[in-house]
Amino acid sequence: MERSTRQRTAIRDAIAGAGRPLSPAEVLAVAQLQAPGLSLATVYRNLKLLQEADEITVVTLPGDNPRYEAGRHGHHHHFQCTACERVFDVHACPGNLARLAPPGFSVDRHELTLYGRCAECAPPRHAPAR
Ligand SMILES: [Zn+2]
Ligand SMILES: [Zn+2]
Repeated sequence: MERSTRQRTAIRDAIAGAGRPLSPAEVLAVAQLQAPGLSLATVYRNLKLLQEADEITVVTLPGDNPRYEAGRHGHHHHFQCTACERVFDVHACPGNLARLAPPGFSVDRHELTLYGRCAECAPPRHAPAR
């Protein structure tokens, strides 16, 4: 396989296999296992191409770098861990939030991001005695 094709496949596979949105640095860490010598610049270039081809979707979080996820998932939300900064998918949606808007306003869409600690970073509720 041609080097650039192998790199693009590695990047696509990294995102498809993650099950959550990845930052470019996270994409690089995973894709490097399949395509040694991959650089962050190449990751960025391929993310742009995959995005243009509609193979990946950009997840924009307020005040943070974009993350990338596979395909089109339809409407869903995200959770960002404030400790490890990883982003996870949230499949629940509170539904129609139009009632929160001021009277007379019409709501077209909403973005919702939950912040907290992921299962790995959360302190255990009942710390086992050592
Ligand atoms: Zn975490
Ligand atoms: Zn929603």
